[in-house]
Amino acid sequence: MNQLSDRINAIEESATLAMAAKAREFKSRGIDVINLSLGEPDFKTPQHICDAAKKAIDDGKYFSYPPVAGYPDLREAIATKYQKENNVPYKAENIVVSNGAKQSIANVMLALLNRGDEVIIFSPFWVSYDALVRLAEATPVLVKGTLDNDFKVTAAQVEKAITPKTKALIFSSPCNPTGSVFSRKELEAIAAVVLKHPNVLVIADEIYEHINFEGGQTSMASIPGMFERTITVNGFAKGFAMTGWRVGYIAAPKWIADGSNKVQGQITSANCSISQRGALAAISGDLKPTHEMVVQYHKRRDIVYNLLKEIPGIKANYPQGAFYFFPDVSYYYGKSDGVSTIKNGDDFCLYMLEKGHVSLVPGGAFGEGNCVRLSYAASEKELIEAMARMKKALALLK
Ligand code: GLU
Repeated sequence: MNQLSDRINAIEESATLAMAAKAREFKSRGIDVINLSLGEPDFKTPQHICDAAKKAIDDGKYFSYPPVAGYPDLREAIATKYQKENNVPYKAENIVVSNGAKQSIANVMLALLNRGDEVIIFSPFWVSYDALVRLAEATPVLVKGTLDNDFKVTAAQVEKAITPKTKALIFSSPCNPTGSVFSRKELEAIAAVVLKHPNVLVIADEIYEHINFEGGQTSMASIPGMFERTITVNGFAKGFAMTGWRVGYIAAPKWIADGSNKVQGQITSANCSISQRGALAAISGDLKPTHEMVVQYHKRRDIVYNLLKEIPGIKANYPQGAFYFFPDVSYYYGKSDGVSTIKNGDDFCLYMLEKGHVSLVPGGAFGEGNCVRLSYAASEKELIEAMARMKKALALLK
């Protein structure tokens, strides 16, 4: 019997989490899998953040429901960060703290979208954008960036995709899964298109803001005219190695923050109190641990890039941020090791898991079936070993 709603039947299981579960299952069978599927920092949460959370428990003052949108001091600190670092005049009233950036995006989708609304998704895209638009019963419209343009969608493409039904566009920069970073000039050109359409909003996912090797983050909301038109999404998971703490947030015009707050009040009441105290220490504390992690990611990016280049047939862009590669592996489609034939990205990832014991995510879930996603949030030793395994396994395909 399947009496699940059409809404839930219309979406897939999260591909990133599914591949991570598969890698865990292999590991539990004693197979030495190198897991490059999940985008999860391999570092520990910095000590001062842990200390703040421990203190919050010992203080005994944080055992009851927090305010739905988050503690006032945390919302204030997030607003101050955006004023100082991103040149966006957010106030505490613009901020809603949620259980990870994923819930922040879900709140926004449910608060804004009606059936029939279109949301332009820059593709390749993070797997949950498409699913969350569908869950809200709206229509995803994929606009594709190509490898030769660093996978970046252009303003001209956005202009062409906008229709009277367009409610919003969504993208991440630095991008999951491609690692690309939009320059200020590129964002200004996209903003100029959006500003011609008074009803179109932008959902700008900045969760990888700190992991940017080429320069600072440009926030879409900082571009003249865009404050009222932008929902900024961010969180603590990536920059502060706090994935399990589940703290994300939006910064948005008050009417959108209020709508998201209403959704959240009915769905989760609020974000975990102790996690919020840790997040406050993260956002108001020293960024040195974050910068140290970024130095490591930067080094790993170059190690993986150089090793990927040595594998015949693989084409990759040179990512400027986040911790992903999104190589085109379609050269191997149609090839076989004599037992299995690789027909697509799913087969490629399965082959790599079974033969090479390296776990990746098929690109189809991100909107590009010729590619696979590789997370380099792993140690240098693991990355070097994983690249050697990939090269060896792929050499068997004829
Ligand atoms: N955002 C991370 C990823 O893309 C974590 C998993 C998820 O939430 O999708 O791998």
